[in-house]
Amino acid sequence: MKNGPKPKLASYRKMLESKAEEVRRSMSAQKAAQVVARLDVPSDEGDLSQQHHEEWIFLNRNTLDMKLLRQISDALHRMDQDTYGICMECEEPISAKRLEAVPWARYCISCQERIAARIADGEMVEYQEADR
Ligand SMILES: [Zn+2]
Repeated sequence: MKNGPKPKLASYRKMLESKAEEVRRSMSAQKAAQVVARLDVPSDEGDLSQQHHEEWIFLNRNTLDMKLLRQISDALHRMDQDTYGICMECEEPISAKRLEAVPWARYCISCQERIAARIADGEMVEYQEADR
């Protein structure tokens, strides 16, 4: 073992991987449900608008899920680069308590709150990041 054991890191990795798996599973379950729903041809206008509503919810949820998957994969990437658990804003370590609750957190609590306030003020787009 190089650089000594990092049992915490390994457990965060496990949490991230199982969360990603869970999100992927729920996304494909939703997709399957939607495909089944599409097979029912709407018989009147009411059904049609209901279907549109469901599609909107589906897309919306899907976007959130995609965002979460992206954050999880970024966190795993940070682990590989040894920058995991370090706030990307102030470069201070993120508390273990926060990482246990949100293992894909990229900011410490105080930076997260500052950033959330800026997003609320419309000064910043949520999770804006450089395209790789
Ligand atoms: Zn910070």
